Amino acid sequence: MRPSTRIAGEPTTTKEPSWHARAACKGLDAAIFYPSDDDVEAIEVAKAVCAACPVSGPCLEHALSVREKSGVWGGCTERDRRRIIRQRRRSA
Ligand code: SF4
Repeated sequence: MRPSTRIAGEPTTTKEPSWHARAACKGLDAAIFYPSDDDVEAIEVAKAVCAACPVSGPCLEHALSVREKSGVWGGCTERDRRRIIRQRRRSA
């Protein structure tokens, strides 16, 4: 398991975004959102929390904008985010 540097739902930037207060992961163990890349079951657990989160959109956009290198944000793993970035570049 990767070391966690954030509290679940907290961004890694110093300025707290407005969506943070409504995060479904607020108060949960941040380790849930840093599963090993090959732990499909753990990744699905994190994604299930995100699927029920009312601020998954802003969370994902935040992760994309700061190029988060690890963790599940907005229901997306790093691999998912790289794919989204590639798709956006192609369609730009
Ligand atoms: S989408 Fe997931 S990681 Fe982002 S705030 Fe919601 S529960 Fe937390």
